[in-house]
Amino acid sequence: MLIRHATLPDGRRDIDVLVQDGHIAAIGQRLAAPEGTPEVDARGQLLAPSFVDAHFHMDSTLSYGLPRVNASGTLLEGIALWGELKPQLTQDALVERALQYCDWAVAKGLLAIRSHVDVCDDRLLAVEALLQVKQQVAPYLDVQLVAFPQDGLLRSPNALANLKRALDKGVEVVGGIPHFERTMADGAESIRILCELAAERGLRVDMHCDESDDPMSRHIETLTFHTQRLGLHGRVTGSHLTSMHSMDNYYVSKLIPLMAEAQVHVVANPLINITLQGRHDTYPRRRGMTRVPELMTAGLNVAFGQDCVMDPWYPLGSADMLEVAQMGLHVAQMTSPAQIAACFDAVTVNAAKVLGIEHHGLKPGADANLVLLQAGSIVEAVRLRANRLVVWRCGKRVAGSAPVVSQLELPGRPAHVDWTLAR
Ligand SMILES: [Zn+2]
Repeated sequence: MLIRHATLPDGRRDIDVLVQDGHIAAIGQRLAAPEGTPEVDARGQLLAPSFVDAHFHMDSTLSYGLPRVNASGTLLEGIALWGELKPQLTQDALVERALQYCDWAVAKGLLAIRSHVDVCDDRLLAVEALLQVKQQVAPYLDVQLVAFPQDGLLRSPNALANLKRALDKGVEVVGGIPHFERTMADGAESIRILCELAAERGLRVDMHCDESDDPMSRHIETLTFHTQRLGLHGRVTGSHLTSMHSMDNYYVSKLIPLMAEAQVHVVANPLINITLQGRHDTYPRRRGMTRVPELMTAGLNVAFGQDCVMDPWYPLGSADMLEVAQMGLHVAQMTSPAQIAACFDAVTVNAAKVLGIEHHGLKPGADANLVLLQAGSIVEAVRLRANRLVVWRCGKRVAGSAPVVSQLELPGRPAHVDWTLAR
């Protein structure tokens, strides 16, 4: 396939992308293609690498209201509510909801998701369900699973044994939740145990870390220390890190360079952080999201995750990573064109780095996992949460939608553009 006349995320216009055997073979102007190669005219629309969600919970998604809604809106009530729902879960219901979500994801051009899966259930029902889903959706969506001890590695009696069983079954990343352990010391100990387990097995680590407004919650320092000590550089992710929002500035000025040295990845979850954090504040009320621009400036790889869609923690969400990028840039006040582009990267290429997917992006040799957006630039894509005109998985069309006519009338759009796509 030859995609002609595309605009690329870096702003280059009238670019052709040649796809052969599911991979990007060449990118350039007026490319020649072998006789009979099917052509798609992008008509100046934005061709981007597919979206990647670096942080999600596919075992709880679409369970909103079961068995009741979260009255306080807090993280802790959400965890308690999930605990009420857990004994009632069935594998069939888990699979059905996850598959439904995967359909939404593909329709939105989201083709890779890292999902945490709760292992604090001796039946490992959610693990079995998501392993089945992972296999089932593999032709069109990459799902990477994290063994997540939701009730605390040390606080929940069988968590460590269950987590190891989940890894044995094929879950590929080691999770954790140090701030939910009984003490700071237990939290630190859980990080040591989990990082050593990951080092032994050659796995990646992704912990829910310091997801609170407590400026003294400093598990990210411990996670960074063990990353350094065990040589896990580039394989460890700190998710949430919301306490960094409230930390003392002097302490953070020491912490961020240490994180950069250990090449820790950072995942902020803007939709969830802005709604769950600051719930104990009156006014001024904290935003709760970690220090995204400062971390990016220090050279850390920062991605944004969706985290929750219609579950005990969050009643909204739609698998739209442009919504996530848009919320992220608002919360972080990243409104310059370069910063908006950085937020777009946070839901595409940066997130792919978190998952360790090397064959992602707009570059020769990468998988042709692409999305054609009804927008003329990244800024416009984020502003409009642009319509997904075509989604390709390894060069094969897996989703698409008709152009949204009303967008023709929005100010700033050239009137002469014909939105009809060659199929
Ligand atoms: Zn999470």
